[in-house]
Amino acid sequence: MICNMNKFILSIDQGTTSSRVVIYDKNFIVIDSLQKDVDQFFPKDGWVEHDAYSIWKDVKKLIKDLLKKNNIDSSQILSIGISNQRETTVMWDKTNGIPINRAIVWQDRRTNDICKNLRDQKLEKKVQKITGLVIDPYFSATKIKWILDNNPKAKSLIKEKKLLFGTIDTWLLWNLTERKSHLTDITNASRTMLYDLENEDWSHEILRSLNIPKDILPEVTQNTYDFGSTNLFGDSIPIGGMAGDQQASAIGLSCFKKGQTKSTYGTGCFLLMNIGEKFKLSSNNLITSVAFKIGNEKMYCFEGSIFVAGSAIQWLRDKLFFFKDAKQTELLYSEAKSSENVVIVPALTGLGAPHWNPNARGAIFGLTRNTAIPEIVKATLDSLAFQTFDLINIMEKDSNIKINEIYVDGGMADNKKFIQSLSDILQIEIIKPSNVEASALGAAYLAFINFMSQKNNNQLAINMDKYNVKESISFIPKIDKSSAKTKLVKWKKAVSALISFHS
Ligand code: ADP
Repeated sequence: MICNMNKFILSIDQGTTSSRVVIYDKNFIVIDSLQKDVDQFFPKDGWVEHDAYSIWKDVKKLIKDLLKKNNIDSSQILSIGISNQRETTVMWDKTNGIPINRAIVWQDRRTNDICKNLRDQKLEKKVQKITGLVIDPYFSATKIKWILDNNPKAKSLIKEKKLLFGTIDTWLLWNLTERKSHLTDITNASRTMLYDLENEDWSHEILRSLNIPKDILPEVTQNTYDFGSTNLFGDSIPIGGMAGDQQASAIGLSCFKKGQTKSTYGTGCFLLMNIGEKFKLSSNNLITSVAFKIGNEKMYCFEGSIFVAGSAIQWLRDKLFFFKDAKQTELLYSEAKSSENVVIVPALTGLGAPHWNPNARGAIFGLTRNTAIPEIVKATLDSLAFQTFDLINIMEKDSNIKINEIYVDGGMADNKKFIQSLSDILQIEIIKPSNVEASALGAAYLAFINFMSQKNNNQLAINMDKYNVKESISFIPKIDKSSAKTKLVKWKKAVSALISFHS
């Protein structure tokens, strides 16, 4: 039974596969959480959509149900933090709050041609210098352009100055505050391909190139801020923290210092390395984003992504019917015959860094009469370790920093066989905190930091001890360097073959 005097922090973690809400106590111990799956729509090859309105309705209901289930009154919530799937683009009519089309999800590749057009105009270098990003359909900019060009409603709403754009953070905030706050934070803004990272403003130049009006965009703030408050659950609750999910998870995994690195294995895989206070560009197709801005402290990060991570496991489950539950992959991995040498490149929606080949598609190499489900499952999981190796390799080169350990989180981090394979291939220690919901935790940290700053005359301070990873399991390499190398040579050959097949 929860005592009425207790105070809590509420975290909203709106992910690609599910929306979650989590209640933490002031020591960041999880009190309870609820979650609901997000419906996925695939109207055409390469298109991925979400129903933004359902996402909002689900989040609202989850919060209501969670407070009720735990007998917690809204007055006991000190602050709300929001972590969200990034880049996913929502456009809505601000007079009735209804989205004008389904949200275009980060994985959606429909804007390949718009990106090609930008590259043909030789804008790659300029875009990278301003936004830190590689021109790619993945980011919000070309998704906004696509909606403006293809949805007649958008055109008339723009004329009437009634159209708003937001990523999921902005959309949820606008609804939570009953249409009062149209804001985003700097980490989410840095993923739109419209934001000037160093000057901290929307880039007029890129907006002009894409013909996107500035007045549909939200105002950008730091990660801890008085974002507004919500009165939808009883007494008013302030919203004090916000960050895109990957940055939120880096915060939840305490990657506050230069060199600290984390890798999240959810639907996609996202590797983030804190590169410090100086804006730096990669020469190997990694992207630069803001890791966080809290008070006067602004840190940048390098990021590399693997488009298909957990979604490869979903594909094995839902399209090939190899198992019913992703958890079964751990046992299947151990059943794989060591005599089989299957290599999978699960580039189901293209290849990310360092290759950035949106047209590549997946392949399986080395099939024999003895290849069965376990071998394919193992090869799929191992492929994620190989892809992580490729990213780490260029991250170290571009940053001049040696990575000695990596923190991991996300649904796949529960798979011990996979994390061991990761440690074996990378030949470094992998640390898995016992709380693998790092995005939700990071959002809760931000909300609490903002709450504390108000109590302390707006002094924002990160008390490292409070936010350090406390309980974790460590994985160290169980194979030697040369065995890891042998496996990596095969992987490289497979990727080269795939790329030449699609060239
Ligand atoms: P997101 O935050 O992107 O919604 P999650 O972090 O919840 O994703 O992770 C879910 C993904 O992880 C799913 O794609 C699922 O297939 C995969 N997954 C979950 N558990 C396991 C497991 N034990 N082994 C391998 N993959 C898993």
